[in-house]
Amino acid sequence: MNQKRDRQFGVPSPALQRMPVYYRRLRQAIEEGVPFVSSDDLGRSVGMPGAQVRKDLSYLLQHGRPGVGYDTRSLASHLEEFLGLVNDKEAVLVGVGNLGRALALYPGFAHYRLQIIALFDNHSDKVGQTVGERQILPVEKLANLAQRLHIQIGIITVPDGAAQEVADAMVTGGIKVIWNFAPCRLTVPGDVLVKNEDLAAELAALSHHITQRKVIVSGGAGREDGAGRGREEHLC
Ligand code: NAD
Repeated sequence: MNQKRDRQFGVPSPALQRMPVYYRRLRQAIEEGVPFVSSDDLGRSVGMPGAQVRKDLSYLLQHGRPGVGYDTRSLASHLEEFLGLVNDKEAVLVGVGNLGRALALYPGFAHYRLQIIALFDNHSDKVGQTVGERQILPVEKLANLAQRLHIQIGIITVPDGAAQEVADAMVTGGIKVIWNFAPCRLTVPGDVLVKNEDLAAELAALSHHITQRKVIVSGGAGREDGAGRGREEHLC
């Protein structure tokens, strides 16, 4: 995906990345029975001013009412459609270890209409075990099952040394989107999208940020920039 602009929708990538956070805030507001939300309220969820939210949402042709804000339900349903959350998505997960198990049991994916329908592993002790209500299947069955069930998404939670062979099996099974948690780059055909989640790299970035903050707080030669302050204000 282009760093600056998502080609398919013509929406800049940073705006696209904020949309799911707005959606999460809107769901919370719906649960709280809040009929309208302001751009400032949505902005707090991403550490951005209301003006940025208004600009982001203008790509969806969504405009709030001055002094009232956005209709919570209407905006949530527009975002659901925009983000493709109205469609059910079926995924398979390979590597039912610490991370794989946690993802397989995470109930929050249901809000995004993502269902992990099958789990695979290559360890004889794990195959046949049950996680949630799914039995872990031998990884040899992955390609065939993915093909038969027209699975769209493959989640990789195996050690990095095994990730490429798992990705190859997913590609053979017709999977077009891979969510890769192994810290390595995969080689896939051009029509397959890979989203890498390199948690260790994220941690390294956090660690760097903490080190920088220590320097700033102790009055050292650190650089205090706006981006850093923005992150401190971010609300979860
Ligand atoms: P883990 O060792 O607990 O689990 C890995 C699982 O993959 C095991 O069940 C193993 O049997 C299975 N496996 C190995 N080779 C396989 C193959 N060829 N086919 C099918 N299954 C296979 O590891 P983990 O801690 O869950 O981490 C999984 C991946 O996620 C690793 O790449 C790791 O670097 C990454 N990761 C994990 C965490 C975390 O919090 N656990 C954090 C960051 C990144």
